[in-house]
Formats: sequence, C-alpha cells, structure tokens
Amino acid sequence: MVESATAWSNWAGTFSVAPRRVTHPRTTDDVADEIRHAAENNLSLKAIGSGHSFSAIGATHGVLMKLDQLRGIIAADRKTGLVTVAAGTPLSELNSTLWTMGLAMTNLGDIDAQTISGAISTGTHGTGVAFGGLATQVRGLQLVTASGELLNCSPTENAEIFAVARIGLGALGVITSVTLQCEPAFALHARERPSSYDALLETVEASVADHDHFEFYWFPHTRRVLTKTHDRVRLEAGLHPLGRLRGWIDDEFLANRVFEGVNRLTTARPALTGRANRIAARALSAREFTDRSYRVFVSPRRVKFREMEYALPRETMSHVIGELDDWINRSGERIGFPVEVRFAAADDIALSTAYGRETCYIAVHQYHRRPHEKYFLAFERIAESVGGRPHWGKLHFRTAEDLEPKYPLFGQYLAVRQRLDPDRRFSNDYLRRVLGT
Ligand SMILES: Cc1cc2nc3c(=O)[nH]c(=O)nc-3n(C[C@H](O)[C@H](O)[C@H](O)COP(=O)(O)OP(=O)(O)OC[C@H]3O[C@@H](n4cnc5c(N)ncnc54)[C@H](O)[C@@H]3O)c2cc1C
Repeated sequence: MVESATAWSNWAGTFSVAPRRVTHPRTTDDVADEIRHAAENNLSLKAIGSGHSFSAIGATHGVLMKLDQLRGIIAADRKTGLVTVAAGTPLSELNSTLWTMGLAMTNLGDIDAQTISGAISTGTHGTGVAFGGLATQVRGLQLVTASGELLNCSPTENAEIFAVARIGLGALGVITSVTLQCEPAFALHARERPSSYDALLETVEASVADHDHFEFYWFPHTRRVLTKTHDRVRLEAGLHPLGRLRGWIDDEFLANRVFEGVNRLTTARPALTGRANRIAARALSAREFTDRSYRVFVSPRRVKFREMEYALPRETMSHVIGELDDWINRSGERIGFPVEVRFAAADDIALSTAYGRETCYIAVHQYHRRPHEKYFLAFERIAESVGGRPHWGKLHFRTAEDLEPKYPLFGQYLAVRQRLDPDRRFSNDYLRRVLGT
C-alpha cells in the first residue's frame, strides 16, 4: 500500500519531514520490494514505528516505510516463553495478547505506544537494577538488508549481526519480526509515595537493591521527590488494582489534564513554576495497588514534552543531580517537569547505553511550548563529564566523534553496517551525525 506523500511529524513535534513516498508493507516480500525500488530510484528509506522518538532518528526525505500493517503474533510457545512478533506490533497490543496466553514481557518502559521494533532499535528501557532494556529480551530477529535479502539472526545464525542488530538504530536494515523471551504472566505490587530528596539519598541504594523495579522523580526548585517501587508478586495472590475513579483521577485527570493546565499557566507566568512544583510534589498522595505487570509498568502520557536522557555510571547519580540543581538555581531557568531517575543492569549489546556497566538513567523534560535548549545543553555537559551516553531516541547534541570512545564495540557495529548497507540506503542526517559517514 502506498500513500501519497504528506508532511509527517513525530509525537513530540520535534521534527517534520515531507517524504517522497510513504508505504505500508503487509509482508516481508513487500518490504524487500520497497527496498529494491528505493535503490533503483536512489532514494533513502526509513522504517518507522509509532514515531515516539524525540530525535530525528527515523526521519527521511526518501521513502517512509510505516510498519502499521506488519503486526501481530506470528508464533508463540507457552512452554519456552519464546514469542515471535511482527515488527510493527505496538507494545500495547503485544502486552494484552501475551496476557491472554499467560505470558508477559519481563520489563517495560513507562508507555506502551511504541512498536516492538522501534522500541528495541533505540534501546528503550524501564527500571530495575537486575533487568536490562527491552532489547535484552530479544532472542532472534529477521532483517531485510539493503540488497533486499532476508536474514535470520540469532545467537546461532548470523550471530555477529545479531550481536549488534538488537539495538541497530534503524541503520542496518528493516526488521520484519522479533523473537522475544517472555515469561509467565505476573503481577506487580506498586507503592508510590512522596518523600524528601534528602531522605531518599539515605535509602536509595537499599531501595534499588531491595525492589525489583525502583525509580524516582525529583521536582526541580524543590527538595521533594516521588518514589515508585514495583515488586513482582505471584498471580495467585490476586489483583488489587486502583479503583476506576481513583485511577482516572490520578493517571488521567491529575497527571494529564491538570498537569497540562499547570504547564500552560507556568508557560505564561514562568515565575510561578517553583511554587507549582512545590504544590504538585506535596499534593501527590501515597498509593498502593497490585495489577497486571504491564498495567503497572506503563501509564498514559498526553502532555507533550521534549526529553533528553543520559545513561550514567550508577555511582554518579547524586553528583549529577546536585550539579543540575546548582545549575538550575544559578541560571534562573524555570523547569516545570520532574526529573526521572531509573536503574538498569549492565548488558552486552554494542550500542546499548547500558553496555558493560550498571546504569542509572537520568531524564530531563521540558513542556513542548517552552524552550528546552539551554536546560538540555547544561544537563548534557554535566552528564558528559561523568561519561554519560545519550538515549538514541531522545534529544541530544552528541556526534560520532564523542560517542565512539563511549562504546567499546562501536567499530564492530560500524563494520556490520558497512557490510549490510554499503550505500547507506538506511541513513539520514541524524545517523550521519551519530555514526559518521
Ligand atoms: C511519551 C514517551 C515516553 C517514552 N518512554 C520511554 C521509556 O520509558 N524508556 C525509554 O527508553 N524510552 C522511552 N521513550 C522513547 C521511545 O521508547 C523510543 O524513542 C522508541 O524508539 C519509540 O518507538 P517507536 O515505535 O515510536 O519508534 P520510532 O520512533 O518510530 O523509530 C525509532 C527508530 O527505530 C527504527 N525502526 C523502527 N522500526 C524499525 C524496523 N522494523 N526495522 C528497522 N528499524 C526500525 C526507526 O527507523 C528509527 O530509527 C518514550 C518516548 C515518548 C514519546
């Protein structure tokens, strides 16, 4: 299926492109035909998932290949937990279908709008010091390369490609399916409570170690935080979800509608930002519930924002937040969005932001109607000074020159790219910046 080309922009509205052609392949053969067609016409081609990357990683002026017709579960083995899923399947669809099979993803980020291939391609992650990002759950994938060839990749087949293609940045080919290691469905017991940042500093190491999934939000201009712990519990213990009304008030009304209103107000009157943050941090009440894992991991995010996130050596967390707090106080910038702090295990994927080290992720956000550049640049300078690696799907200003030394297997990744896409069919401005030519 081919659409006449119109301007296309991502969820955050950080970039917009007018591709020459938009296609919606239904089969792997369609994908291969489109790639060959693009080559004949000397056009670049980018697969795109849900467009939830903040960076222009998926932008193209050539052929935009939307994967919305390539979705659904292809094969599932309840005994082994191995599930093969079409590349364009949104996580929301994947999670609910897995549940009906008695299965679940091991860990997730905080939304479920992404496609499985888009999520793994940029290194999407959640929180939990014993858990890697989504790409660490991948056991195999199918990739159509620039020549139109279909490759099966796994630890035993095309292993050197598999080693780098799980977080491939969309630069190695078009993924058509992904095989995931899932696990028996489980519930999560959630505890969310407001606290002070200083109290958190006393207990943060224990919280990270003692809970399956721990994260916190720090409210700039205050010493307040909101902590969240999610612990795995057996389904037999029963679910105790939030009541519909409480869930709607917290997750829809307060977190989205009221928050949008507050952001509009503080955009018009920035001097109110600090007070608004103090009120928000105090107004959040503690809550506790147990629900299906995927319902606890994710929540609706309707307020538009810009985001930068850095993966940092875990031990630098309090130093980085301290420096950021100092900068905010000195600069006079008003920041209305909380800073999100998460944790992850080290992994072995070449371009994973958690490659080879236990990681603390710190993410800064700014409402989409307010300028973010000064704030993000300042945060990036601090993160850089401790060896930070930027999330590939979020905003950053780094180039191949400064990224290469951060990734011991960068050269290995580039060699596979050179082999699979020598003419750079899948390249774009962003990839030229972060990978070089
Ligand atoms: C509100 C919000 C919340 C978020 N929360 C988190 C979070 O909790 N944790 C986190 O780590 N990130 C988070 N992100 C970032 C997001 O998970 C990533 O940017 C993710 O890549 C988006 O998935 P997508 O399907 O929209 O991919 P897209 O943005 O559409 O594409 C991303 C990249 O993947 C490539 N790609 C997509 N499909 C294929 C394919 N089939 N073959 C080859 N390449 C492909 C594209 O070319 C592009 O390079 C969030 C983003 C938003 C907007």
